[in-house]
Amino acid sequence: MPHTTGVRPEMVSRVIPVDPFDLVIFGGTGDLARRKILPGLFRRFRSGQMPEGAHVIGAARSDMDDAAYRDMVREAIGEHGGSEAKDSKALEHFLEHVRYVAVDARGNTGWDALKEVLREDEGLVRAFYFSVGPGLFAELAEGLRRHGLADAETRIVVEKPFGHDLESARALNEELARHFHETQIYRIDHYLGKETVQNLMAVRFGNMLFEPLWNSQYVDHIQITVAETVGVGGRGSYYDKSGAMRDMVQNHLMQLLCLIAMEPPARFEPDAVRDEKLKVIRALDPVDPDSIVRGQYTSDGTVNSYREDAENPLSKTESFIALKTYISNWRWANTPFYLRTGKRLSARASEIAVVFKDAPHSIFGIDAGRHSNVLSIRLQPNEGMTLGVTIKEPGPGGMRLVDVPLDMTFADALGPEAEEVPDAYERLIMDVIRGNQTLFMRGDEVEAAWAWTDPLIEGWQRRGDSPKPYDAGSSGPDDAAFLINRDGRRWRGVRQ
Ligand code: NAP
Repeated sequence: MPHTTGVRPEMVSRVIPVDPFDLVIFGGTGDLARRKILPGLFRRFRSGQMPEGAHVIGAARSDMDDAAYRDMVREAIGEHGGSEAKDSKALEHFLEHVRYVAVDARGNTGWDALKEVLREDEGLVRAFYFSVGPGLFAELAEGLRRHGLADAETRIVVEKPFGHDLESARALNEELARHFHETQIYRIDHYLGKETVQNLMAVRFGNMLFEPLWNSQYVDHIQITVAETVGVGGRGSYYDKSGAMRDMVQNHLMQLLCLIAMEPPARFEPDAVRDEKLKVIRALDPVDPDSIVRGQYTSDGTVNSYREDAENPLSKTESFIALKTYISNWRWANTPFYLRTGKRLSARASEIAVVFKDAPHSIFGIDAGRHSNVLSIRLQPNEGMTLGVTIKEPGPGGMRLVDVPLDMTFADALGPEAEEVPDAYERLIMDVIRGNQTLFMRGDEVEAAWAWTDPLIEGWQRRGDSPKPYDAGSSGPDDAAFLINRDGRRWRGVRQ
């Protein structure tokens, strides 16, 4: 009997512990480990999802013992672990599961010590998180094999950036494939671990309501915006070799676009989902040069300009990009997808907006106004979804129409538990331990994304295009507004 109402059995037990594991974090002293990975693991430990048999082993070149590493982890969780970090009893218990080994990924030191720390128990999951610079990914994979630390069951987690272009991504895929099978490789895009992103799939494929309308017949256009208020300060010289296209569009915005546009997979299983995403990327049209606007922030007197942050006075790297693209398939023919992302913008806000077409005929006359429904999927802040619907404006004065939001902010709808939305990293790490690759990028997906991105970058490099300046704290260059306005549309405001 299908469940129609009430609490389903799977909701009763929300905490599903994973198998015991040894998780080695290469780069265990780095920024990502301290801000995201370790606090995330602690939260999972505290909520009972990490078994007693779980070991977390930090690995980096720095020379320290377990006690010194635990001090570092304690401090990192105190700083980045939110209110849960105040639970000092749980924190001390968690730290008992944490160890450290000094290993140089480039040399031969430390590997034997690491081998000694790792357990050989049957059923124990062994995973290595490559939270080190991308230049070390291939060497680490090779080192794990050479030193006998990996077998056919071992999993590796590879951070971004995955290559710099198609050629380098292909080379890295080949290098990893020499030592690990594709089913063992977990390429992280943390956007896929966000609650709302997964909810997008639930809304699309768990309801009858949206999917029949989810095509070019009913959807006017789609906007994907990832706006940041921060600049590139601190990692300016790295960013200057990358730019918004490589840093954000090729991976994060591309993944969001795939989830919005893909056909329903037959099952919510890794290859079924990733096959459909790959088809979307392969169906993406090349982008005309006049459908791309690149920008670079200038100083507003209170913050550095991009060129100051990048310490490159002649830099032509973009800190902002907006573009219009199309997907050449039956579902989306002629439906524009507008993508925009940038740094030092007026607000930190990420949203996917599905803008539906106007009703074909207004029975209320033109004075009532024309309105279109918009499904807004917010990644931050206030993760949630809003469906704009048109109703009559209350009160006398005739039939005037007004748009009101049907708000599905998770915290409001689902109660306080929904406020504790797990961080993307902790969810993804648990998926690694569970052996579920659904929310990780497959090698061919990454290559297809670069194959679409490379010609666009080569195009502006060949033409010698310079990015348009925009004021720090603004909504980007004026040309970005023109890109969409000339089609009779406009960007949605970025809400704080
Ligand atoms: P980071 O702060 O520079 O940390 C690098 C880590 O790697 C340190 O623990 C360092 O420790 C270790 N390391 C360096 N060389 C090593 C070697 N030869 N052998 C073993 N360990 C070595 O970098 P991060 O910001 O954490 O970034 C790590 C990775 O995550 C990068 O690929 C980055 O692109 C990616 N990522 C980071 C963020 C973020 O928010 N930070 C976001 C997305 C992706 P020792 O110096 O002691 O060896």
